[in-house]
Parts: sequence; structure tokens; C-alpha cells
Amino acid sequence: MTAIARRCVVGGSGIAGLMAARLASEFFDEVILLDRDNIPEAPNTRDGVPQGNHFHAILPGGLGIMSKFFSDLKSELLAAGALTCTVGRDFYSYWREGISYSLDRYNPNSFEGPQTFIQTRGLLEIRRNVEGVANVSTRYNTAMLDPSIVANRICGVRVITDGRADDIECDLCIDATGKAPRSIPWLQKLGFGRPEESVINTDFSYTSVFMKPHNWDAFDGIGFFVMRDPAGGFANRIGGVIKLEQGLWIAFLGGRFADYPPREMMNSHPGLGPCTIRSWQTSSRPPHPFRHRRASGFRVASGACLEECRRSPTDCCHLAMPSYISIRSTDKACLQLAG
Ligand SMILES: Cc1cc2nc3c(=O)[nH]c(=O)nc-3n(C[C@H](O)[C@H](O)[C@H](O)COP(=O)(O)OP(=O)(O)OC[C@H]3O[C@@H](n4cnc5c(N)ncnc54)[C@H](O)[C@@H]3O)c2cc1C
Repeated sequence: MTAIARRCVVGGSGIAGLMAARLASEFFDEVILLDRDNIPEAPNTRDGVPQGNHFHAILPGGLGIMSKFFSDLKSELLAAGALTCTVGRDFYSYWREGISYSLDRYNPNSFEGPQTFIQTRGLLEIRRNVEGVANVSTRYNTAMLDPSIVANRICGVRVITDGRADDIECDLCIDATGKAPRSIPWLQKLGFGRPEESVINTDFSYTSVFMKPHNWDAFDGIGFFVMRDPAGGFANRIGGVIKLEQGLWIAFLGGRFADYPPREMMNSHPGLGPCTIRSWQTSSRPPHPFRHRRASGFRVASGACLEECRRSPTDCCHLAMPSYISIRSTDKACLQLAG
């Protein structure tokens, strides 16, 4: 295809930026992909992606679109350890009433839903594929700042690398910086005013932890959620355990309506016996105006409680989860883990 212009700069190399760079590579002589993060060599969690410390499912529509640009993507993901998961069968949830195969309501009947791939966020980033495109180059550890504007047109961007600022000329700049986009103030600067925004406050906060259990296959299927139990002690909390690549599990606890799980959930416990914590992080800070995470009503995991987790992954789940969410539902989940 003949290029329509010389250079495109894409700011932000999350999923949106990576895909934008791949698409732009067909229409520009050159594409420069920026990210303020120092991107690790191998797929891993990183600071710039707020949701990077969580599992990611990719649904058939999204995977289909990505596969159009990278034809070997599915086999590459599988080879790297992504898990295939049939919705309605391999992923289930514990409700007061029992096991459900639908996440939005109690449904005891399993069904063959669409197939999705489950993996860490890092694995899903098609970074190496995009870096392999001949006319795409990357500049990591480089933050996109402001546009250079001439005669009311953006003709470049100012960037900063290791404290050193410079300007990159371009014919098109794509803002893919995620949930705090740079381009909103740019539009104001260009005299277009601030676009109208709708704010949907999900008021959900979670704490998640990666574990390496001895028995990765300790429970059926790929993962389960423990749903909120309106009659339980922690009516606004949910949790879950999901299998991931490389023998990992991710366990998370989440809460709504100012009833958030504590950040200290598994802090500074490098070895939980059989459950070795690889990394942990609290993500998804509660959105404004719910800034106060330390609302009353938490049961903070004490060191003693976590010490007891040494015995087995089951104990770990059993002890940690009921501390934060409905005991009744969690007991059912843990019974299954106990086999
Ligand atoms: C808990 C949770 C679970 C989720 N699970 C799923 C799931 O299972 N499946 C799914 O499809 N989606 C899921 N999502 C949503 C999905 O993760 C996001 O929609 C998606 O990651 C957004 O991608 P993005 O590229 O737009 O932004 P981001 O992933 O936020 O990427 C933005 C990038 O821009 C960079 N950046 C930011 N500012 C600058 C700057 N000034 N200069 C240069 N670079 C900059 C950042 O470092 C980052 O790399 C989940 C979200 C959450 C919170």
C-alpha cells in the first residue's frame, strides 16, 4: 500500500497503542511507538498499566481482530502458556445457592459458551509482533508531553527521555495513553474546547496476588469467582482464583461501595510455604470521589493468619478469603479446593 504521509507517532504502548502502531504501519513510511515505561524484555507486569497486575481474558471478537494483523497469534499465545477457556463450562462462580455457570445470575447448568483465552496481561501484549514490523521503531522510557502546534495544526510532539526533552516531527499523532489521555488538554489548547465526558464510577477496588502453588491443578476448570453474598458478613465483596501460564494462580479480592479489601492483604510475605508469592500489588485505585481506601470494616490479615497458610494452597485460600468476603460462599469454594 502507498503511504499517505511520512511519520506517525503513537504515544502509549498498551494494547491500543500496539494495535494502532501496527495499523499505522500500513499508511505511513515510519511509525514511532513511545511509552513512558521502561518495558521489560519478557512479558511482565509494569507500572504504567493500571490493570497490568490482573488476568486478562480475550474474547473471540478481539482475538479475531488481533489475529487479522498477526496470523500466528493464537498459536503463539498457546505456546507461551495461555489457557483456553469455554465460557459456561471452565469458569464458574460460587453463589449462596451453589455453583453457577453464569457470572451475572445463579445458573446451575453448564453450557458451551464462546471460547476465550486466559493469560496475564503481559502475555497478551503483542509487543514483539509489533516490534518486528519493519517500519515501526520504539522509544521506551519516553513520555509524550505536549504537541508542537503550527498554524493551528499538530505537527509534532514534545517528549522527555531520562529528563531530556526533544521534539519529534510527525504528520499524525495518536494518543493511546490510556485512562488519563494527554489529548483532552491538547484539544483545549487548539481551541476546540473540552469535549463532553461521561464519568461512570464503578466504585470497585481490588487487591490481587500471583501465587505459584505446588498443585496448580488443585481445582476444576480454569477459574472461579466467589460472588457477593448479600446476607453474608461482607456483602459487597467478591473474590476469585484463576489459573494462569507458567504454573501461576492469581487470587483477588474486590469490594464496592467503600467496602474495599485491604492493601495489606499479603504484603511482605515472600514465602507462604507452598504458595510462593511472586509479586503482589493493589491496583485500580478507587475512582474519585472514593479515595479513602481505609474505610471501616476491614479485617486486615494479620501476620499470624498468613503464617498458617504455610500448610497448603487450600489453607491459603481458606484463610485469606473468608477474612475478607462472605464466609458461607468461600467455604464452598474451599471445599472444592480441598478436593
Ligand atoms: C481489573 C481489570 C481487569 C481487566 N480485564 C480485562 C480482560 O480480562 N479482558 C479485556 O479485554 N480487558 C480487560 N480489562 C480492560 C483492559 O485492560 C483495558 O481496556 C485496556 O488495557 C486499555 O488499553 P489501553 O492501551 O487503552 O491503555 P493502557 O493499557 O492503560 O495503556 C496505556 C499505555 O500508555 C502508556 N503511557 C501513559 N501515559 C503516557 C505518556 N504520557 N507518554 C507515553 N506513554 C504513556 C502507559 O505506560 C501504558 O503502556 C481489565 C481492566 C481491569 C481494570
